[in-house]
Amino acid sequence: MGKSTNEVRGRVSDFLAAKGVRLTAQRSCLIDIVFSTTRHFTADELLDMARRKDPEISRATVYRTLPLLVESGMLKEMDFGEGRKLYDPNYATNPHHNHLICTDCGRIVEFEDAVMERRVDDIATSLGYIPINKSVQIKGACRTLRDSGTCANKNNSQSSKTNRANTASLKAAKRRTLK
Ligand SMILES: [Zn+2]
Ligand SMILES: [Zn+2]
Repeated sequence: MGKSTNEVRGRVSDFLAAKGVRLTAQRSCLIDIVFSTTRHFTADELLDMARRKDPEISRATVYRTLPLLVESGMLKEMDFGEGRKLYDPNYATNPHHNHLICTDCGRIVEFEDAVMERRVDDIATSLGYIPINKSVQIKGACRTLRDSGTCANKNNSQSSKTNRANTASLKAAKRRTLK
């Protein structure tokens, strides 16, 4: 069900065209950045990433483009309970992923689990609901924190910084680590 990143970019371009929004070079640059990363990022972090490619990109362009990408359905606005919005570009390519969030350092791990997903369906259905958004968020302490009592990421807890895992995969689950 997941789409390739090229397909995602195509969908976004089609959506903007249908809406009569011009695909300027700056918007196109933003779309490339957003859908070539697996990071969860804030609007300001996107601005930083964009300015490394094009120093002319304005904050206004970033703040005006983000809601359009969300509206296209290809980017999700997330609330991980840290009092700030994070954008997640991974639903288009991995529509069934869930998140583990370290309450100490903010590290975010993505995982998929078909058994849990079916169980969530069963629970919702048995309670008379048709499940629409089944994304599960689990808050906890990451292994680094448990093993050493502290976490290297603690003092620069930019929860959206990329930090790919080299850890063994969970049983029956596919996971990706991001921070
Ligand atoms: Zn995610
Ligand atoms: Zn941690």
